[in-house]
Amino acid sequence: MVEDAGREVAIENLAAVIGECRKCPLWENTHHAVPGEGAAGADLMLIGEAPGKQEDLTGRPFVGRAGKLLEGLLAGIGLTRDDVFIANIVKHRPPGNRDPRDEEIRACTPYLEEQIRIIRPKVIVMLGRHSSRYILSFLPVEFDRITEIRGTIYPGLLFGHPVRLIPTLHPAAALYNPAYREALEEDFRTIGREITDMGGSETQN
Ligand code: URA
Repeated sequence: MVEDAGREVAIENLAAVIGECRKCPLWENTHHAVPGEGAAGADLMLIGEAPGKQEDLTGRPFVGRAGKLLEGLLAGIGLTRDDVFIANIVKHRPPGNRDPRDEEIRACTPYLEEQIRIIRPKVIVMLGRHSSRYILSFLPVEFDRITEIRGTIYPGLLFGHPVRLIPTLHPAAALYNPAYREALEEDFRTIGREITDMGGSETQN
């Protein structure tokens, strides 16, 4: 589609800008920026926290062990990485995988916001508390613990477009915690139903 081609170019141009970004010092200790990847016209966008070691080495989001788990969760609802767009709140790896700082999040999130404006996803899944806190602040929705709100569907407007926001746990948290893994699988079933329902209502209109 012509519109999708335009979005692809816009996403690629933005990735090039992110690759050169020096707005905060995080880039200094990294090998690659990790802008995000996937379908520029995706209905489903997933947002993690920040690149880890494997992501820094490859320039691709969620390619380590948490990424393998994420791919399995996507496969469970009939999707591959190519069907969705995967991004992070912060585009360069924080040293030692520490949490991103507020000023780093402030410097970096205009890129994520631009990606959301270009892609206009119908569903955004926030992986973990950092991305959930950031994205839900636009509604606004506040929370103490991600476990209290995970799997809830929040309909809202993001940058003028209707979207359904679904917070869930970070896949890395589920790697060694069977209860978290079960919760994540449950949330992905919710996400799968949401995507199916969305497709159904579209074909009826
Ligand atoms: N964890 C994240 O939040 N993002 C990645 O890209 C990889 C691991």
